[in-house]
Amino acid sequence: MRAVVYHGGGRPVGVEDVRVKDPGVGEVRVLIKAAGLCHSDLSVIDGSIPYPTPVVLGHEGAGVVEAVGPGVVAVKEGDAVVLSTLAHCGRCAACETGRATECRNAPNPKDTQPFTVNGRPAYQFANASAFAERTVVREQSAIPIDPRVPFDRAALIGCGIMTGVGAVVNRAKVETGATMAVFGLGGIGLSCVQGGVLAGASKIVAVDVVAEKLALARRLGATHTVDAIKDLTGGGADYTFEAVGSLAVIKQALEALGPGGALTIVGVPKLGSSLEFVVHALYQNKAILGCRYGTARPRRDFALLADLYLGGRLKIDELITQHYALEEFPRALEDLKQARLARGVFLLDRAA
Ligand SMILES: [Zn+2]
Ligand SMILES: [Zn+2]
Repeated sequence: MRAVVYHGGGRPVGVEDVRVKDPGVGEVRVLIKAAGLCHSDLSVIDGSIPYPTPVVLGHEGAGVVEAVGPGVVAVKEGDAVVLSTLAHCGRCAACETGRATECRNAPNPKDTQPFTVNGRPAYQFANASAFAERTVVREQSAIPIDPRVPFDRAALIGCGIMTGVGAVVNRAKVETGATMAVFGLGGIGLSCVQGGVLAGASKIVAVDVVAEKLALARRLGATHTVDAIKDLTGGGADYTFEAVGSLAVIKQALEALGPGGALTIVGVPKLGSSLEFVVHALYQNKAILGCRYGTARPRRDFALLADLYLGGRLKIDELITQHYALEEFPRALEDLKQARLARGVFLLDRAA
């Protein structure tokens, strides 16, 4: 089958012939129908996220369950599913209290090698590997979804939408009437804007340097798209969200907070980066929050996001800038690097 493989060392990435194993105990084989290109895929290639290689890339995918291994109970053959990148034990104190993104004994995603490329075992990326015609994942990473959501839309729920909407609703817990600002309007930042709409934020200031992205943010519900945040929010926003992964932008988002405000860092700076800031800036009850995967509870949240989409309250169609065939991976990657995409989505189903 075809899959996008990265061999390390900054080597060019392309589509190769890859094999995937049969599903083992508690595992599921998924026929991928569509997969979104996310910045984290690029981060593996440019070394910002170190990952063992060879690795089959992609982690924002949707498709159909093709086969299940022994002991699988939550999904069956033929189910439409969205891939979840979250591996968690389901039994520790954090999991038991609904905080699976804080799991203490999550299996290491870097241990899994379900693929073979040129006779060599190849790693799975982020418990998913969606840039492949087929992947084998743990049952907990195949989340059933309403089949009325088209696969290219459903795919985005698995990373960009979950991460952005979840940061606002699950992590920061933005209240009705609060003011907020979102820095960086890629797929995740735009999803933060929509999280603000769903939460009933009174002012949603969208900040970016690309005019088209500001225009799209307005269509998705941003109330302001200029950078004079302090004036607009009467002395600083209640919530700010950094969705770039830039240390300079994290500082700006911190400075834009009003008293009692909280900055949620959604972007992922290069691993090991550290930031210096004036500690006194946090006086007046300000907070900096980390956020993993939108603080997701995938089985609850994916279904909720799908319902919001089907009801017209969550916009996903507008987030898709362009569709590609898997073979067009290098062109899609270049479009992402040039900031031309809110989301680019690969369609793997040739018939679709
Ligand atoms: Zn992602
Ligand atoms: Zn756990």
